[in-house]
Amino acid sequence: MPNPGQTSARSPTQAQGLQNLYGEVIRAPGLKIETSSASISSSLCTVAFAAIILLLVPEKEMSPTAKSTIFYGSVINPISLVSYSASPLCLLAVDTLGNIDWLVDDVEPHNLQETLASKGYIDSEVIALREGEFIIPGFIDTHTHAPQVPNMGTGGQYQLLDWLENVTFPTESKFADVNFARKTYESVVRRAIDSGTTTCCYYGTLHLEATKALADIVHAFGQRAFVGKCNMNRNCPGHYIEASQEDSIADTQALISYIRSLSPQPELSTQEPLVQPILTPRFAISCTDDLLSSLGDLASSDPKLRIQTHISENKSEISFTHKLFPSAPNYAGVYDMFGLLRQNTILAHAVHLTEDEVDLIKSRDAGISHCPTSNFNLSSGVAPIGVYLDKGVKVGLGTDVSGGFSVSILNAIQNASISAKICSLQAGNSASSESAKSTSFANKQLSIPSLLYLATAGGAAVCGLEKQVGSFAAGKSFDALIVNVRDEAGNPTIWGLNGTSPQLAAEDKKKLLEGWLERFLFCGDDRNIERVYVQGAFVGGRTYRRGRMDDSSFLVGRDTSPKLI
Ligand SMILES: [Zn+2]
Repeated sequence: MPNPGQTSARSPTQAQGLQNLYGEVIRAPGLKIETSSASISSSLCTVAFAAIILLLVPEKEMSPTAKSTIFYGSVINPISLVSYSASPLCLLAVDTLGNIDWLVDDVEPHNLQETLASKGYIDSEVIALREGEFIIPGFIDTHTHAPQVPNMGTGGQYQLLDWLENVTFPTESKFADVNFARKTYESVVRRAIDSGTTTCCYYGTLHLEATKALADIVHAFGQRAFVGKCNMNRNCPGHYIEASQEDSIADTQALISYIRSLSPQPELSTQEPLVQPILTPRFAISCTDDLLSSLGDLASSDPKLRIQTHISENKSEISFTHKLFPSAPNYAGVYDMFGLLRQNTILAHAVHLTEDEVDLIKSRDAGISHCPTSNFNLSSGVAPIGVYLDKGVKVGLGTDVSGGFSVSILNAIQNASISAKICSLQAGNSASSESAKSTSFANKQLSIPSLLYLATAGGAAVCGLEKQVGSFAAGKSFDALIVNVRDEAGNPTIWGLNGTSPQLAAEDKKKLLEGWLERFLFCGDDRNIERVYVQGAFVGGRTYRRGRMDDSSFLVGRDTSPKLI
């Protein structure tokens, strides 16, 4: 398996032929086919390229040797809020460190060998995607609560403050038991990865040991994540509250040190470690002035440390906040007053911000996590995301489990679309008057490029990882999903590809791919996420689950090491 922290020289690889995702060898014009594995050599097919597939190599027999991996097939790449590229014939190379070495669009099968040669890959192993499979950047969940996953789908009758008291705090208090925490978090992180979340901003509970366990599991499972322990020393029930400001800060510092020891900064690398700590004042209401002040001091001494919190989710919450902080000009001003509003602050919800607050957030270059499912489910309201985008504020998507009832960013995409349509309808705009290419977003629907961007590159910007993940470019980390919209994926809500598409002109292939993307965003689920890669390592997805079922060592003794095909 690749270790992103290690370096190793890359050399031209031996001929392996053209394989699909499952190690099945297919024949392509201009490519010599050789089979180095006994399990591959048992059968070869002579069908033309793009017609497809032949034999199965069990996952565990695929060699995890240190060499570049080259994918050939359809790739979707976000470009901006108004555009993405859809390339049906893309060649994409991932180096041994899990970074994208290069990618080339529009490589016809007969030009494959020549293109590989031009990159110095004379006889390389190429993994060819089948029709109905495509690569997109992994999803980025900019706001979720790991301990609340067991509560998903309950408590929707409450609004925020009652929901915290009746549903959330009782469950979170159980994480005082580290064994319970560990068992629960294993399931939580596995679900998040298999749902396509390659980067996740996790809130833990207030417990130090349980949150260390969460970081351990994220690290072992190979997900990219920020993990924080909630700071909360007032306005919480007696059974679930930090004893003092001093205890809260001491535990926070201990967690930061612990997480940084898990995955140190790779030597000679500008890339950031996979798992990082994040300051997590739960929200202004739950923190005394002293605690917020100490957290501000901690933040100012550590400029790289991310900060996550909630803002303006619910009207009762906002008025309570104003009462608690009468000297602050507004809710955003509370965080600003304590030095907690800066370029790496992630503000969840932002449903009811005033214009002054939006301007302040923009001036501090903080980001907003849009959590539309939760905003609907807890009757919080409809966040005017288009207004924030027009102001140039960074915006990503969050599931906000369990205010939200799904761990999947696909669900957040769907509700972000509905949320924007509500804004549009309320403003009296009609869909037909809106252009997908428009660069003004207030009171308009969100287009497919916008939704894709928010779920990937937008989230990366909110996390301060825009140079590393969120889209595909040479030098960026290969954090990616291989999506499968073929009928065999077994998702009855996707009218997917059944059989092989007829030979199409290039422009028609592109349109077909765009159609697959839209269907996946609105009807897809984890059955359509075939493989999940983080930093080039194969860490989850449908194929991964199948491998675990086939191999008892996946279930007993937990082989949690990331794997690279
Ligand atoms: Zn939340």
